[in-house]
Amino acid sequence: MSTAPAFVTGTDATHDPALRSWVASANASDTDFPIQNLPYARFRRRAARGDEPEPWRVGVAIGDQVLDLRVAIEVCPWEPEVAEHLQPLAQGDLAAFMAAGLPAWRLVRAALSEVLAEGSLRGPFLEDSLVPMAEVEYALPCAIGDYTDFYASIHHATAVGRLFRPDNPLLPNYQWVPIGYHGRSSSIVVSGQGLRRPLGQIKAPDATPPVLRESRRVDFELELGALIGPGNALGERIGIDDAEAHLFGLVLFNDWSARDIQPWEYQPLGPFLSKNWGSTVSPWVVTMEALAPFRVPFTRPADHPQPLPYLDSAAHRAGGALSIGLETWLQTERMRQAGSAGERLMASDTAEAAYWTLSQLIAHHTVNGCNLRTGDLLGSGTLSGPGPGQGGSLLELSQGGKVPLQLANGETRTFLEDGDTVILRGRCTAPGRRAIGFGECRGTVLPALG
Ligand code: MN
Repeated sequence: MSTAPAFVTGTDATHDPALRSWVASANASDTDFPIQNLPYARFRRRAARGDEPEPWRVGVAIGDQVLDLRVAIEVCPWEPEVAEHLQPLAQGDLAAFMAAGLPAWRLVRAALSEVLAEGSLRGPFLEDSLVPMAEVEYALPCAIGDYTDFYASIHHATAVGRLFRPDNPLLPNYQWVPIGYHGRSSSIVVSGQGLRRPLGQIKAPDATPPVLRESRRVDFELELGALIGPGNALGERIGIDDAEAHLFGLVLFNDWSARDIQPWEYQPLGPFLSKNWGSTVSPWVVTMEALAPFRVPFTRPADHPQPLPYLDSAAHRAGGALSIGLETWLQTERMRQAGSAGERLMASDTAEAAYWTLSQLIAHHTVNGCNLRTGDLLGSGTLSGPGPGQGGSLLELSQGGKVPLQLANGETRTFLEDGDTVILRGRCTAPGRRAIGFGECRGTVLPALG
């Protein structure tokens, strides 16, 4: 057995770009879900009106189908050690599998890859375990415990800092310490659910008393969400080279924000009601194993401070970062009525956007002995790229609301209007590798509370 840290372990037969599936749609070049991906979600068939809904179960995405593990465990012969790990998944309990750790994740990934591969003798057993993705609805992948949001893009931190402090955009701690705050998990919802425009205390710069009114500066934040697998005990820290053994996988994450509530409330303790009225996650959890082909070195510009030793290691420098292409799309009500799927607002890549890696966020979060638990969610922070037009929020793209975005259909936006749907997408590509994707993270702004 190799003793290399989880994040630099190489790829295996499940990543072979030549591997094809007997599920034909998984072989399409543009699918997010080829056999090399195999992400997990909690789902059920949408019930017909008046029918009792099915119990939630865990499924695996393959092309435009979902492999229903509740059915698959019954109809296909599995090795006993694989069946043992499939049992909680069949019952809809992804968290138990997330807690099981890397050996279990690898075992099940290898088994799923084998049974879904073209020519598999077990393939015919599973044909009735497939459900078209178009017929399912999703739940959150697990009960989300504690939620921490970071601030990992220096481009976002600088752009936002410039709006508030033109002379001093980047605070001096930023290049030393991964900045974060504790958020609220109760209002995290799965893709597809609408969120009401929040009310809040808002003070115009030239007004003396603040007023309670609906936010007029509702924004998105393009982030990745990292779901914790096995936790750590209170009082024990996780070293940087062990960090990803505690990480089950990633989702797309929209950290909706009210930009007119935020500046009045955030001093001195940080964001509160401007952020906790809703965040949206994509349903499919892309595992860290699936992301193995898309590792890239962690680098720092020579004129920046190098990370302190607890945030640094040779293995981390060699492959601690990830390259994930990210996009934000907007579909306005008018676009929807015209049959348009929406317009792309921006694109970035985590390799350029993130100043801190997921391993560094985990090592830092636990360096004081704070315990992470299975199902905790770490938000990366808004993943803005370095270039103009790569802002991961409207705050950046509209330069603080001063420069409206011109949309192709003639509409303009500074911030989001009621009926606007924001769609996040993520896709990994690398030379000689089969591309994989995250599917969509979709949410719509609904009219404010009365
Ligand atoms: Mn955020």
